[in-house]
Amino acid sequence: MSDKNTAPMTDLERLRHSTAHVLATGILRIWPEAQFAAGPPVENGFYYDLELDHRISPEDFDRIEAEMRKVIQENQPFERMPVDRKRALDLAKEGSLAALGPRSVPSKFKLDILQRIPDDEEITLYRNGNFTDLCAGPHVATTGEIGGFKLTNVASAYYQGDESQPQLQRVYGTAFKTEQELNEYFARLEEAKKRDHRKLGRELGLFHIDEDVGPGLALWKPKGAVIRRELQNFISEELRKQGYTEVFTPHIGKLNLYRTSGHYPYYQDSQFPPLVEPEVLRHLADEGCSCATLANMLKDGSVDGYLLKPMNCPMHIKIYASSPHSYRDLPVRLAEFGTVYRWEQSGELGGLTRVRGLTQDDGHIFCTDEQLQEELFRTLDVGIRVLSTLGLTDFRARLGLRDPDSSKYVGAPEQWDKAEQALRQAAKKVNINWSEEQGEAAFYGPKIDFVVKDVIGREWQLGTVQVDYNLPQRFDLHYISSDNSPKRPVMIHRAPFGSLERFCGVLIEHFAGSFPLWLAPEQVRVLPISDKHLEYARKIEHMLSEIGVRATVSDSSDKIGAKIRLAQLDKVPYMLVLGAREEQAANVAVRSRSRGDEGVVSALQFVERVQREIKEKKLE
Ligand SMILES: [Zn+2]
Ligand SMILES: [Zn+2]
Repeated sequence: MSDKNTAPMTDLERLRHSTAHVLATGILRIWPEAQFAAGPPVENGFYYDLELDHRISPEDFDRIEAEMRKVIQENQPFERMPVDRKRALDLAKEGSLAALGPRSVPSKFKLDILQRIPDDEEITLYRNGNFTDLCAGPHVATTGEIGGFKLTNVASAYYQGDESQPQLQRVYGTAFKTEQELNEYFARLEEAKKRDHRKLGRELGLFHIDEDVGPGLALWKPKGAVIRRELQNFISEELRKQGYTEVFTPHIGKLNLYRTSGHYPYYQDSQFPPLVEPEVLRHLADEGCSCATLANMLKDGSVDGYLLKPMNCPMHIKIYASSPHSYRDLPVRLAEFGTVYRWEQSGELGGLTRVRGLTQDDGHIFCTDEQLQEELFRTLDVGIRVLSTLGLTDFRARLGLRDPDSSKYVGAPEQWDKAEQALRQAAKKVNINWSEEQGEAAFYGPKIDFVVKDVIGREWQLGTVQVDYNLPQRFDLHYISSDNSPKRPVMIHRAPFGSLERFCGVLIEHFAGSFPLWLAPEQVRVLPISDKHLEYARKIEHMLSEIGVRATVSDSSDKIGAKIRLAQLDKVPYMLVLGAREEQAANVAVRSRSRGDEGVVSALQFVERVQREIKEKKLE
């Protein structure tokens, strides 16, 4: 049974949903009393919800899969059967839906689903072998088309997602056209597991999320902080070259500011609740004011409070508005690594990629309509430069354009035409792959979303670049044009990497923790073969530290083999092995994390090489 009113199924979804029917067939061959509810395709697979006294566990998967394999080998055709409502109800009542034939009890969930189908909608059954289900389809032609499948998980779920309804068992699986595609999928999953940034973040000591601090609030440990700082410096430097000036703004601002911008109360559900001034709170408490009253007063503005900053834009706007601007000053480009707070649902939080406190690589450009295209081009250009430097060379952009049939948009249609054309031109000019998606623009302006593919082919949505006609109007922004009349600037919001948290999370997985030299928290580890060479080791460390290379000495009493293994586990790009021969000649034996032994060079040569590779931001 698939849900109605959803987009048409892709071929793979059709195959996977068909496998859900095969799953039900297999389960019924073992437990004929099972009662099935819904079995849609989902991302990466499918599930089927069922009620059954036996608690299905992964130990049962072999047995169920064996039955499913038989159904596939029988190459049963999926037969579509339109029926009238009466017939369908009769079948449900005699227990024949999602069943291998009539049973003594009704197919209760199918009966319920059937009663929810509107009168004017066609009712169809699908049959494969002796299994009949109520389903809108579509399916593959025969069960034999399922080339590879696997059950992956079992969980519990309430019927209709409603806690007052019965709790069901949800059996998950996945399917592909071929066995090979199935195997590749699991190999990719395995690789992704190894690269999981939550696991690597813990093992490499990069960040920590502490329940006492709060879910979704990342603590950057010293090694993670180095990576973040290096990235931040790199991005800042690129932005400086593009004519941005840096600003700093506080973490909270008055509710009124966000009322003007429209961020409050409209996005209340995704924000931390407002803060109230202590005296006001005391006064209201003395008066016996209830929480509900206070909430209403904050909402209608009879009490002002502060908001933990959900967006940096209004503060940058206030910086722009704090001094007069002539057309000659434009564009004004303000950049800030601004930390904002969002109330993400706790179920959606995970490592660094979904957090409640995030630092955006934010920036706002105030410019004229004529300058829009050049500014968008520069924004894309800097984004691409940063991504390429990190070895993320496979990326694309999604252009979110307006829905031509809707009238919900702020700004004149001519402005929109111009802005959309500017986005297209900019994308063309930087030679990026892009797709245009009508109706995906915000009400205040068109946008570009960045999507990158990492080394194992996974796509990550990063940040956006948005044109905005709304905020300059809400804040009544001006510049003085060449004919001395006040004009309205257009605004661009840009945070191409989304947030440093998310971007670092993606990078940890992309590099599998083996950061390139310039980003590595520890760049060189000096490994004396014995204590006799400790002093020489410290001298080398000092030489490196002097020129800003992050180097340490391994001064433990471990054997050299163990020292190398540990440095390798810590993913340190270079190891220098020092013994008597090296010390006498002022040499170092170089070992690379990825290429192994690289031979002996003079200490000076190595220092020069490391310095050069850091400067070039060399990738391995
Ligand atoms: Zn179906
Ligand atoms: Zn903004």
